[in-house]
Amino acid sequence: MRPTHMSAVAPQRSAAVIGAGPAGLLTAIMLSQRGWGVKVYDALPPPPSAEDNDLWSSGERSYQLGLNGRGQRSLREFGVMERVSRYAASVNGRLSFDTKTGAPSESRLIPPGQPGAEKTYVTRVLQRDRLQACLLEEVRERYPNVAVSFQVTCDGVDLSGERPAVTLCPSAETVSSQEELEGCAVPPVGLTAFDLVVGADGVRSAVREALAASPATSTRPDERNTFTGLRRRKRLERALLMVLVGWALLGARFGVKLCAKALLGAG
Ligand SMILES: Cc1cc2nc3c(=O)[nH]c(=O)nc-3n(C[C@H](O)[C@H](O)[C@H](O)COP(=O)(O)OP(=O)(O)OC[C@H]3O[C@@H](n4cnc5c(N)ncnc54)[C@H](O)[C@@H]3O)c2cc1C
Repeated sequence: MRPTHMSAVAPQRSAAVIGAGPAGLLTAIMLSQRGWGVKVYDALPPPPSAEDNDLWSSGERSYQLGLNGRGQRSLREFGVMERVSRYAASVNGRLSFDTKTGAPSESRLIPPGQPGAEKTYVTRVLQRDRLQACLLEEVRERYPNVAVSFQVTCDGVDLSGERPAVTLCPSAETVSSQEELEGCAVPPVGLTAFDLVVGADGVRSAVREALAASPATSTRPDERNTFTGLRRRKRLERALLMVLVGWALLGARFGVKLCAKALLGAG
């Protein structure tokens, strides 16, 4: 039995993590290891148990994620790779089928450490939801300072106060009437303030949208404000693109001139 990560004193700082996917749960583990009290919210229902082999082998449960060396290192660093390893397959080669004849052809990868090996690690593969289930079980067993709530949707982040506050509502399919949903009044959720809000809510992130819409994030010269950093990076990327386009145009003109010279010279 591995020890729990229980701090001697109650955590002083509180964080909300929006999204209990792989990124959100690993972030919650990392924050808890650093002494934060963490509340994680996810709009969807929880995944089934990672141990249920029949269910996971049906092939219909979410898509497969490939864990490369860097991903495995992160999971190891936060103490969860051992659990993930129990359910992840190893990629040792490739089996392809000819599109016309259907004939199979097999190629084996040279194992890491042997001469000619392409990689320094063996890629591991498991379903996205099963990885989420592993992380969730790890959280529930070892991190009492992390509370995970499912079927709770983050509807926005209010940055006008001293501390960021998130609007939390029951997910649409879990409330019985439209008034209940519109009012967002179903306890125990509502507007809740935290010291830190982490947006791990996937590609259509409500947190990122709230940051983008807030005048506070685009004007405040705050080094903790990652949105300002993003804007700066975007500007830099645009400038770099202009320089590249300039080079390409100059190169093209120069190339045309050289070709013309060569052709005329040759003629
Ligand atoms: C078909 C497919 C194949 C992929 N293959 C790979 C691969 O091989 N390797 C790889 O690294 N990546 C792959 N990806 C990308 C993969 O989805 C991500 O790497 C991984 O799931 C990212 O984890 P995440 O926690 O950041 O986001 P997600 O897994 O998207 O989790 C986000 C969570 O946030 C919750 N959420 C969203 N909005 C809200 C809200 N407003 N309030 C509360 N909760 C919210 C969602 O319910 C979800 O559980 C693939 C994606 C797809 C679609």
